[in-house]
Amino acid sequence: MIKLERISTPIKLTPAFATTQTAEFIANETNVWNVDWLKESLLELSYGKCAYCECDLKEEAKYMEVEHFEDKANNPNKVLEWDNLLPACKRCNGSKSTHDVISEPIVNPFIDTPSTHLTLRLYRFKSKDVKGKNTIDVVDLNHTERAVKKRFEVGEQLEKTIEKAFERLELYEANTITQRRNKLLSIVEDILLECQKESIYSATCSTILHSSDVYSEIRQKMQTHGIWSKELETLHNDSAKLVI
Ligand SMILES: [Zn+2]
Repeated sequence: MIKLERISTPIKLTPAFATTQTAEFIANETNVWNVDWLKESLLELSYGKCAYCECDLKEEAKYMEVEHFEDKANNPNKVLEWDNLLPACKRCNGSKSTHDVISEPIVNPFIDTPSTHLTLRLYRFKSKDVKGKNTIDVVDLNHTERAVKKRFEVGEQLEKTIEKAFERLELYEANTITQRRNKLLSIVEDILLECQKESIYSATCSTILHSSDVYSEIRQKMQTHGIWSKELETLHNDSAKLVI
């Protein structure tokens, strides 16, 4: 989970539209939020990922659901309130269901900084406080199959790529020819791009990256050799903000 920023209300979500469609929901329980432009606007906020678990929602658009932070059954007047809507996957949305976020608050990634309440150890979220614990339990963030296993797969792949980058560093140090330098730069850039807010499971990847002694050595040696560019440093610093 990463911190997200909410941009202004979509143009089509006018007060008149919200009023008539909210009344329609209250009268007939119509899925008034289930419209393409609204879903697309929400997807833009989260870089096409689930706001809770960071799985890819672009791959299977049908898998995306409009999540009502204050649940629609108990808060029907907020069914089209922009600040109450989040892009979520079917599984996170289903797990959270009609949980009352007022009496038992959970992390809202548009309001809270997830790392204040949660941390990651061995691909499992750990709570730092009651809000973090509620979030893990309510959204089921440590479900073995759908969450922990996915983070493990992505994390293991990243660890392997970091090791490969270290091998390229050694090759470069043995002979500092341009070809070897470029291959090293390319793999390090790829690693850092996997740890940006636009990438799936970016909190997991960033946390692994910034706790990796191997990556730390690669960066330090590349700096010593004068081949750690400003661009790489920017990507490094941006990913550090996602560590959980
Ligand atoms: Zn999810």
